[in-house]
Amino acid sequence: MIRIISLSYLILFLCSCNATKTVTPTKSITQVAIQKPNAPKNIILLIGDGMGMGQISAGTYMNDNTSALERFPIVGLHKPHCSDSLITDSAAAATSFASGIKTYYNAIGVDTDSLPVPTILEEAESKSMVTGLVATSTIVHATPAAFYAHNKSRRNYEEIAVDLVDSGVDYFVGGGNKFFTRRESDERNLAYELKEKGYAIGNYLSDFTQFFETNKERKKIGFLTADKDPLPQLQGRDYLENSSLRGIEFLDGLSSENGFFLMIEGSQIDWGGHANNPEYIVSEFIEFSNLIHKVLDWAENDGNTLVVVTADHETGGFTIQPGSEMGNLKTAFTSKKHSGDFIPVFAYGPGSELFSGLYENTAIYHKMRKALDWK
Ligand code: MG
Ligand code: ZN
Repeated sequence: MIRIISLSYLILFLCSCNATKTVTPTKSITQVAIQKPNAPKNIILLIGDGMGMGQISAGTYMNDNTSALERFPIVGLHKPHCSDSLITDSAAAATSFASGIKTYYNAIGVDTDSLPVPTILEEAESKSMVTGLVATSTIVHATPAAFYAHNKSRRNYEEIAVDLVDSGVDYFVGGGNKFFTRRESDERNLAYELKEKGYAIGNYLSDFTQFFETNKERKKIGFLTADKDPLPQLQGRDYLENSSLRGIEFLDGLSSENGFFLMIEGSQIDWGGHANNPEYIVSEFIEFSNLIHKVLDWAENDGNTLVVVTADHETGGFTIQPGSEMGNLKTAFTSKKHSGDFIPVFAYGPGSELFSGLYENTAIYHKMRKALDWK
């Protein structure tokens, strides 16, 4: 978008140098300055896995009729289907966000020929931005994996973990310790290899805050929050907000003038949908919304950060039924799988206006790049 600033009319006065000293205005000029809109310095992409309209609506009505999503000035919709199925999975969907292509069910960072495609996180690194990933699933699970790994199948967790070691990502927090330290396919200890590469690596056996405070001057940080899947929030998982906000602080401190790219996933909204469990969905949504409030507070203060919130797909065909009241919902599910419904997109900050409208999920990638003014 070109912003046109009309400066005040400049009247040029020509001085005539004759003896009578009369002054005659001869021309009126409108001066037009063309200015590029500000590109964001940082991007924070928040993905609520399985967070469709039913999840957002129920989570809001069960949270005193409010959520952080109401603070976003720009709302759009995306079409979540993948290359070989109208109903996508998280792997193909995250590959669309990360790389701007439609690919097949289960694909991680590869195209329909299983060939690797560059991801926005890798491109950000090549432009000297710093990068981070936070998830409430394992860090090798489909959604985060699609930002740094390239594999024909999301199930190859140990291969995906190797890709994380090679990725150069500056900050990561998520579960899946066993895929790094007790591997079935080889004898490698990837936590050790990450330390060799300069990372401070911690895990769930120590306190995250203490670990972070001890290591925040380091160049790279990784923390594995569980041996495999982290617990649901209802069962005591509590690291999402703390590790995300400290991640922002860490990446912002590292990034100097080049900025950072951070993807944060509320992974288990999806698992509540698969379990057809409304309390699971709502508790995960409210935790995610509370984090988004804090992220927006930070971005408002920063002024140079594009914040985008979306989901990969809806899960469960979750709806609010007749007989529901505010704070007391009757809900229903149409399946234990994903649905094909369009998915809302929320954007705030420089470049956010690009995200209004209805578009393919692949456009999220292209809009982020356009906002950053990448060629
Ligand atoms: Mg996921
Ligand atoms: Zn799912």
